[in-house]
Amino acid sequence: MDELTEGVRRFARERLDALAIDAAEQIDPSVLTELAELGLFGLSIPEAHGGLGLRTLEICDVIAAMAEEDRSVATTVGLHAGLGTHGLLLFGNDEQKARFLPELASGERIASFAATEPTAGSDLNGVRTIARLEGDELVIDGEKSYVTNGGFAGLFTVLVKTPGLGGRRAHGLVMIPRETPGVVIGAEEHKLGIRGSSTITLHLEGVRIPRGYLLGEEGQGMHHAHAVLALGRTVMAAGCLGTAVKALALAYAHGQTRVQFRKPIGDMEASRAHLAHMASLVHAMRASVADVAARREAGESIETASTVAKVFCSEGAFDVTDRNIQLHGALGFIEETGVPLLARDCRVTRIFEGANDVLLVRLGAALLASKALHDERLPRDADSTPAGRAALEVDARLRHETAALGKRLGVRAIERQRLLLALARAHMNLAVVGALLSQEANEPTDLGRHARAELLTEARSQLDNLPRLEEVAGLERRITDSLGSAAPA
Ligand SMILES: Cc1cc2nc3c(=O)[nH]c(=O)nc-3n(C[C@H](O)[C@H](O)[C@H](O)COP(=O)(O)OP(=O)(O)OC[C@H]3O[C@@H](n4cnc5c(N)ncnc54)[C@H](O)[C@@H]3O)c2cc1C
Repeated sequence: MDELTEGVRRFARERLDALAIDAAEQIDPSVLTELAELGLFGLSIPEAHGGLGLRTLEICDVIAAMAEEDRSVATTVGLHAGLGTHGLLLFGNDEQKARFLPELASGERIASFAATEPTAGSDLNGVRTIARLEGDELVIDGEKSYVTNGGFAGLFTVLVKTPGLGGRRAHGLVMIPRETPGVVIGAEEHKLGIRGSSTITLHLEGVRIPRGYLLGEEGQGMHHAHAVLALGRTVMAAGCLGTAVKALALAYAHGQTRVQFRKPIGDMEASRAHLAHMASLVHAMRASVADVAARREAGESIETASTVAKVFCSEGAFDVTDRNIQLHGALGFIEETGVPLLARDCRVTRIFEGANDVLLVRLGAALLASKALHDERLPRDADSTPAGRAALEVDARLRHETAALGKRLGVRAIERQRLLLALARAHMNLAVVGALLSQEANEPTDLGRHARAELLTEARSQLDNLPRLEEVAGLERRITDSLGSAAPA
């Protein structure tokens, strides 16, 4: 499938002009048509339904290759391949799949996923959009915010409350075709980045769909939505990798040609430190994406691994794009160079599909609750190499600290977000070390060594800091409580 990725990379280089897309705040419809003709809306869809039937890593490779040239297009196709189609792929029955998958594969219908509402962002339990059962139909009323692809989507997978199906507090995932009466598409949002990606409010006004458009088990919509989001996070991490690859390439090239003090700036030790950090971060991001993809193909749960990949790659991409700006000096601040756009485009990835703090707090709580998650971090044979043994030492500390906190705080630990964040970050760094160890078992590389050293240092520092955190949290509480009386003049 390398051939497909290369083809996509070639197409993206020839046809995608990221600055023009950013300025126009839309992707030219002819590009969407070409993407459809290339079959790129069928990445995730089985061949039997007209798609390419790619494995998870292959989908990620294609999205990363697109993101190297333009993040709006990568977001459009990635959302379709991830969040957009996976409700149907994971939970649809044969009839539902036969009805919609061929049109989704051909790009005749582009897919959207609508969960967020004005009162339900990070806390999706606040969803108010409601589906009432009337005979054999569901009648839906509500409003969904920030719907990616919504401007041109042909099929919306929507998270709704379904009080009549599966209990009073039940939720459902329903499919709503765009042409259904009562579907009203709001205006496009104007954004900091991924400006070519469509983002709208979706109004649902007495929308009637057959009951047969409910996906999966009655009452299990929230559970299903979380499974879909795990896949979406994986694809998004791949997009972040593509952006970081591009930023690294630009930074390196600039470092070779820009001469100051009679020397290329890339030869200066301070610049080498930036470039080496960026390159090893990209290497680690790639390992993290490959790790989730491999787990998914092995039939494992990707709830935790996809959180790690999403948070790590979104932060990594922002770090790499920011250093790219710095190494470009003033040119890094000038839009025409395309350098600022990379940072603007990836900023949102720390917010959508789960704000990073929210994901990390949830991960920290999960670590306290489940010993099994600690066993996922490092490969089983980690103790067979010196690098693995170094990681195991930090791993043992994390296990110990987690158990001690659980014992000391019990259920109150859930309120100590500072502690949860530290545990989650230590876990994240170790999990990425684990991914690197798995992939470089026989052939450690300099990039891998550098990345592992940085990640272990970071994980140790999270754990070293734990004893201070309660005091720090108290101080922070006093400061933030006093902010209200210190309003700006
Ligand atoms: C460009 C774009 C495209 C999007 N596309 C889609 C889409 O296609 N479909 C869709 O359903 N949604 C989409 N979203 C919405 C996105 O998923 C939400 O913005 C995201 O889940 C965060 O919700 P919120 O914006 O309401 O932030 P809030 O929930 O208001 O959170 C704001 C901040 O508060 C803090 N916070 C909140 N809760 C906690 C907590 N429990 N612990 C600690 N800190 C906390 C965090 O710092 C967080 O960043 C999109 C958003 C954008 C910007």
